[in-house]
Amino acid sequence: VAEILVVELLGGFGDLLIALPAVHALARSHPGAAVRVVTFSPGAALLDADPLVTEVVAVEPAPGAARAAVARQLARRRPDLAVSTTRYEGIPALLEAAARVAVTDLWRRPPPDEPVGHRFLDLLLSDGVLDPVTKDTPLAVALTAAEREDGRRRLAALVGPGSPRPPVVLVTASGMAVKQWPAVRWRGLTDTLARWGHPVLAVGPAPDGAVAVPPGSLRALAALLAAVAEVGGAAVGGDTGPVRLAAAAGVRVVGLYGPTLGARYGVEPGTALQGLPGCPVRQPTSITEQECWWSARCPLSGDGPACMADLDVVRVAAAVAREVAGGASGLLLGAG
Ligand code: SF4
Repeated sequence: VAEILVVELLGGFGDLLIALPAVHALARSHPGAAVRVVTFSPGAALLDADPLVTEVVAVEPAPGAARAAVARQLARRRPDLAVSTTRYEGIPALLEAAARVAVTDLWRRPPPDEPVGHRFLDLLLSDGVLDPVTKDTPLAVALTAAEREDGRRRLAALVGPGSPRPPVVLVTASGMAVKQWPAVRWRGLTDTLARWGHPVLAVGPAPDGAVAVPPGSLRALAALLAAVAEVGGAAVGGDTGPVRLAAAAGVRVVGLYGPTLGARYGVEPGTALQGLPGCPVRQPTSITEQECWWSARCPLSGDGPACMADLDVVRVAAAVAREVAGGASGLLLGAG
């Protein structure tokens, strides 16, 4: 295999990060092969400076842009091996017609309790395109020394000198309302963490007592998070891209899962807290089909997603304390 093409055009940069261990495992399984990744902006920038990725093709989201980008890349060079997370717009058929070997369905028979990223690795292994020694490739984003230094400087400026405990980053924003933890809970968590002596930073709306992380590029955010990891800090947030980015930068994460299952979407090492684990409406392996997904209208509560409201401040704060103290080595699952 001299030429590998990976197509990751599901949507947000969180999806790219789910697939990143598989990208790295493919590169490590085929040393010497060129690895080209086609993915959306702005997430594509997260692969800049990645020593295992030869070329990143950034696609601006627009109708028809995904299929056109894949067709262009196939016309440029035919891959020996094509792997795709993406199944819309006839992209699998394009890849299967052009590549010597194509793996185009990484969503086959997903077990409800296996992290999605692990599942990708399992399927690639069973399809014979991965070296078994790469099966446990962790999620990690590559940063330059200069970026890391800049992240340390910016963290010091945000946190100030002399804090007795490491910082905790709250990812208060969510791209989807159904994944949003109530604002009153964020305020309560901020109060608790501040009382314990943690500087509290916020990506997204900052509760009183938290310091807002100024908007910037994804790489700058990753570098800031890497600096948080270096001083033993933690991050808290829902099933979102920035939470996954924190994990990719080495931060221990407390994930707040409601409409999605922590067992499937949790990041490790860290804790995945599950709100309302027994919700009968949730469809763990086809989340976009559950009736609350797009509307955020929860049939179990008139006040918003009952699963997110089920996650209380005391348990979340306790999970943060555990993670700051070192946490477990893998993914610890807990009820809200
Ligand atoms: S139905 Fe309500 S409680 Fe169940 S997953 Fe959807 S938002 Fe959460």
